[in-house]
Order: sequence, then C-alpha cells, then structure tokens
Amino acid sequence: MAKTILIVDKDQQFRRLIAPIFEGRGHKVIQAENGREGKDAINESLPDLIVIGSPLSDMTGIQWVEDVRKIGHDMEIVFVANDKSELSEVKPVLKDWNINLSASKPLIPFVFGAQVECQFASEKGADAQKQKLKDFETMFLALVTKYARVLPEKLTALAQVIAKAKADSEDTESLEEVRGQAHKIKGTGGSLGFKKVGEHMAFIENTAIAIAEKPLDERNLMWAEIDRRLVEAQIDGEIEAREVMEVVSGKDEVEASGEHQPAMARILVVDEDQGFLQIVEDLGRERLVEIVKATSQAEALERAAVYPLDAALINIVPESPEAGFLLARELRSLPGYDNLPLAFISGDALAKDFVEGAHAGASLYLDKPFESDSLEKAVHHLVAIRQGGRSRVLVCDDDEFFGNTVALVLRNEGMIVRTLTDPNIILETMQEFPPDMLLLDVMMPGITGFEVCRMLRTIPRWQDLPIIFLTGQTGVEARVEAFRCGGDDYLPKPVVNEELLTRVKVRLDRAKMLRERSDKDTITGLLLRRAFSEQLSAILSESQRVKTNFSICLLDVDHFKKVNDTHGHLAGDTVLAGLGQLLSRRFRVDDLRGRWGGEEFILAFRREKKEIIHKAVTRALEEFRDTAFFSDEGLEFHCSFSGGLATYPDDGESIFELIQASDKRLYIAKKAGRNLIVYQDESEVQSVTAGGGGH
Ligand code: GH3
Ligand code: MG
Ligand code: MG
Repeated sequence: MAKTILIVDKDQQFRRLIAPIFEGRGHKVIQAENGREGKDAINESLPDLIVIGSPLSDMTGIQWVEDVRKIGHDMEIVFVANDKSELSEVKPVLKDWNINLSASKPLIPFVFGAQVECQFASEKGADAQKQKLKDFETMFLALVTKYARVLPEKLTALAQVIAKAKADSEDTESLEEVRGQAHKIKGTGGSLGFKKVGEHMAFIENTAIAIAEKPLDERNLMWAEIDRRLVEAQIDGEIEAREVMEVVSGKDEVEASGEHQPAMARILVVDEDQGFLQIVEDLGRERLVEIVKATSQAEALERAAVYPLDAALINIVPESPEAGFLLARELRSLPGYDNLPLAFISGDALAKDFVEGAHAGASLYLDKPFESDSLEKAVHHLVAIRQGGRSRVLVCDDDEFFGNTVALVLRNEGMIVRTLTDPNIILETMQEFPPDMLLLDVMMPGITGFEVCRMLRTIPRWQDLPIIFLTGQTGVEARVEAFRCGGDDYLPKPVVNEELLTRVKVRLDRAKMLRERSDKDTITGLLLRRAFSEQLSAILSESQRVKTNFSICLLDVDHFKKVNDTHGHLAGDTVLAGLGQLLSRRFRVDDLRGRWGGEEFILAFRREKKEIIHKAVTRALEEFRDTAFFSDEGLEFHCSFSGGLATYPDDGESIFELIQASDKRLYIAKKAGRNLIVYQDESEVQSVTAGGGGH
C-alpha cells in the first residue's frame, strides 16, 4: 500500500539519493531541508513514516525527534546519523523515542529502502519478512564487496588502454576500448553504489567519443582531462569501496559466508520434528537448496506468504494424515501457488495415502528417514515442475557483475534467472533455457544488443518475447534505435533496482496475460482444447520415449441441461467455474486439465497406475458432489459428473484412440446411472462381475 514518507535532511544529495528508492516502491515522498520545514510538513500532510538525518542545520536530529514526539506524533521514525560515532552516541536514547530503525551515513540506498519497507510489514509475518530482507542484504553486500575488491584492477586496465590510445592517434581500436571499458564500469559500478566512480566514467566515456572528432592539437587537453578524472576515480573508488566495506563490516555474516552462491531453489519443509528439520536444512545447504522450515500448519502458511517458494515437502503424520493433505490444499489456494509442486514425506506409505496424495497434488513421496540423494532427486524433480510456473528471465550483459546484480534482484522476487556474458551464444542458450523475457545490454564485444534483438525478431519463436534494453547509452538516438529494432522497453544504466523490478514485472504479467488469454478458458480457468491437445501430444511423445504410461480422463457434468433449465444459465456457469477451480487445485501440478467443450472436461495424468488415478478422480467427484451451488434465485443445489478413464498404451496408442476409449467409458458411466468414473470396458466390467468380483 502506498504510504507518505517525509525525508528531513540538510543534504540535498542525500535526499535525492533515497527519494527515488521510495518512489520506486510506490510511496509518496516529501522532502524538507531543515527542522522547521520538517515540522511544517508534518502538520500539512501527516506522513506515515519519517526519515530524519542528523544533525539538521537548526538543531540535532534527536532534539527534532523529541519535539515531534512531545506534540504527540507516533508515526514510525527512522534515524540516520551522520556517521558511526554519532550513531553510537544516540543509540541508547532511540528506544525512548520509540525508534526501531537507525542507520548511519554512508548507506547503500537500495538496502536502506528495503529496511525501511520492513517497517511497514504487518505484525504477522514481520519476522519472516525481516529474515528475507537479511538474506537479501547479505547477498547484495557480498556482491558489492566483491566488486569493491576488483574495481582497482578494472581501473588499472582502463589506465593501460588510455595510455595506449593517447600514444597513437591512429589507434582507433584502443580509443574504442577506452570508451567501452569506461561505459561498463559506469553501468555496474553506478548500480552497485559507486556513485562518484560512475560519474567519472561517464565523463571519460563521453570525452573518448568526442576526442575522435577533434583536431590533433586539441586532443592533448582532452587527454589531460581524462587522466585527471581517472586519478579521481581511483581515489574516489577507494573511498567508496572503504565506505562499502564499513557498511559490510557491521554485518559479520557476509565474511563468514564467503563467496555467496545463490540457492537454486527454495523449499518449504513442514515437520513437527525440529531435529529432522535441522538435518534437512544441512542437506539442503550442501546442495544449494534453501530450506524454509515450519513446524506447524499456521507457520507453514505464514512462511509461504512471505517467501517465494519453489516447492513444499510436507510430513504426513500416520495418526492424522488428513492434516497434511489439508495443508497441501490450503497452500495451493494461496495467491500465486496454484502451481506449487508438492511432495509428501511419510514413514509408512499406506495405499490410502497414495490416493489422498494424488488427489491433494503430490508429485512425489519420500520415505523417512531419507537419504541425501533422495532429497536431491526430489528437489530436482520438484524444481523442474515448478519451472513451468515461474517466470524465466535471461540477462545478457558482457559485464558479469552487472548481470549478477540484476539476477540477484530478480531472483529475490522468485524469478528464475540465467545470466549470459557472451551474446554470440544467445541462440543456443535460449534453446536450452527458453526465457519469458530477455534483458539485453547494448554495448557488447562483437555484436550490439540492437543487432541481437533484430536477429531474434526474425525468428518466429521469439517474435513476441518481451525484450528490455539495459544500457548506459542515454541519448535520444539510442532510445529510438531500441524501439526500431524491436525492443519493448528501455532502462538506463545505472539502473535503480525498484524501477527495474517494476518494469520487468509489468512486462512479464502482460505477456503472461496475453498467453493465458489465448490458451485458457475464461469461465473455468483451464486449458482450451487446442492448448490441451498440444500439451497432451508432448506427454505422448515423452511416454513413448521413456516407455511409461499415462492416463486421460473425460468428464461430463451430469444432467447439466436440467441445471441450466432449473437454476438458470448463470448458476450453470458457476458450476463450470467451480469444477474448473476444483480440478486445478487437485492432482499434481504437472497433470493437465482442460475444458474439452461445453460441460465436458479432460484430464491427463503422467505415470501413475490407473487404479490410483481412478480413486483420486473419484475423490474429486465426491468433493464436487459436496460442493454447494446456488441458483439465480438463491436456492442451494448440488451436482455430479461422470467420467471415462483410458490409459496409454493398454487402451490405445494414439491420442485419438485414447479419447475414443475414454469417451466410450464415459458413455458406460452415464448409462450405469451417472455419478461414476469408469476405467474398464463393459465386457471387462461384466466379466469381473460375472467372476464374482475376483478372478
Ligand atoms: P448428461 O448427464 O447426459 O450429460 O446430460 P446433460 O444435460 O448434461 O447433457 P447435454 O449434452 O444434453 O446438455 C449439455 C448442456 O450444457 C447443454 C448446454 O446448453 C449446456 N452448456 C454448454 N456450455 C455451457 C456453458 O458454458 N454454460 C452453461 N451455463 N451451459 C452450458
Ligand atoms: Mg452432461
Ligand atoms: Mg455433454
């Protein structure tokens, strides 16, 4: 929710630095230069939160806070001291004035913005939110630290090409290299908080462009300017790096964790046994899997709301298996989680649990105690499924650091990100990692981002792929070129992370919406016949290749015409929507559900035995029967459906044969009185009955 934030600080630079961070998060920002202006601003607009920088020109920060509190204002106040010593001085009294968050300059704007955002987090989930922030901060700072370490080398390398280009006025290649390197340091350094270095690099880049046009006698002066700015960049780089280190040294866990490698997946594990959770967490750490632990249902739901999860592993307690299945259903009804892959851990796997599990959406069962490689396999499997549901972003930038920074920001929002430094292999990379969006740098060795984009637009598969340029070139010409070559959007480097995030999200949502609009039925939310058939063909070829089975099930709502006639067409639509929702929340994420037409639905299940699928669909039928619907007049009524189930390869080897077989069985179910799922032909049913139910 948008809030009003007041920033009171005598330093205009500081206000300018952090205001966009809040604005980027959708908040309204008011600025005040001194204490008096600050107080006026409070009276005028009653902000939700105040950032107060100390000292002010007319009083100290603490005095100001005291005045404000005494008048009776109780909004959140964030205290920013001028340096560390001031902060330690005031620290003891901050609590007296109800200040929960304090910091000292210099600070890293993006991290600071996230900390402030935490103050707005609701009571519930605040702890988890804080943990999430801490994790993020750790990773971000690790990245900044690493850059601070390599920056001197980068500047030295730049100094060398500058010397080369200066020595030989014919050496246009070196001049181009000067421009390119400065451009890169400007983009990445600027984005990671090396503001002054970024400014010097912008100057060097521009001057290197201008120099080529100038007569020889004017060039010496310009080279002198470049040299001067390079030296300044080296000095400022050291200062800024030290500042960064200072911020970091306050957080010892960064050093402790060393080279931070981002987790490949985040998995929720729900188990009452703390000891067991600890073991899973350790196993996870070895395998770069972040384990989010929960010991109760409530905790599990709370955590799921805060962390973007890739999968959940739920322990099934033999005494009350229903609780675990119920939690599975609740998790999958949380926003954004209808695609969450699930696995159950169970000591003794009863046959009943398999049916319940299939119905609740289990993709996998693990036995307890489980071996480390079964966790690894499970993770692999679950993540592979989940990747279908999460947005995949490819970041192509020749500067590894820049790519990593962007990846970090996006991964923290639950996206799957791949970075690529060599644009020459972009096609192969996209083949193997088909992205939902491409973030593309413009200046790269050998080929420009514009050229890459133009090339991609000639390939039908990538014609609709959202492409955003991230570039240090900010001129009008570059902007025009970005759109002319088929790009969708344009973000200047250094990127403000909030802005990046917002633009990426908006584009991804829009692309997803367009895709869903063409693939999905609006009433039921399930796949339309064409999209379903396409995906079913893929399942068929996969099953042929790895020689496994799969089943399809045709469903048809019973006496639906009567439902429409008796309760109204609108009520009829509600029934279809209700069944669509039920089907999409039950069964495994990698199962397919579609609306075949009218009141007919179709499902496809990989691998699993026919008998188990039969029972699981029958469970869904029971649930559907228990669902209350209401007529246009408000009268309660109930519905049922019938189904026919057929399995590859036993009942048919082509999609056509399988559909025919299940249609035939659907007809048998209707004839037998409806409200039934049939998975055998009439003759087989009779022979089983004739044989007295045995064989
Ligand atoms: P049975 O149990 O044998 O399947 O009987 P039935 O009445 O369900 O079968 P029938 O095929 O005769 O009727 C299907 C009805 O479904 C006719 C059609 O008007 C209705 N129908 C099809 N699509 C929709 C829809 O999108 N919304 C509503 N409300 N009704 C629909
Ligand atoms: Mg019907
Ligand atoms: Mg019908």
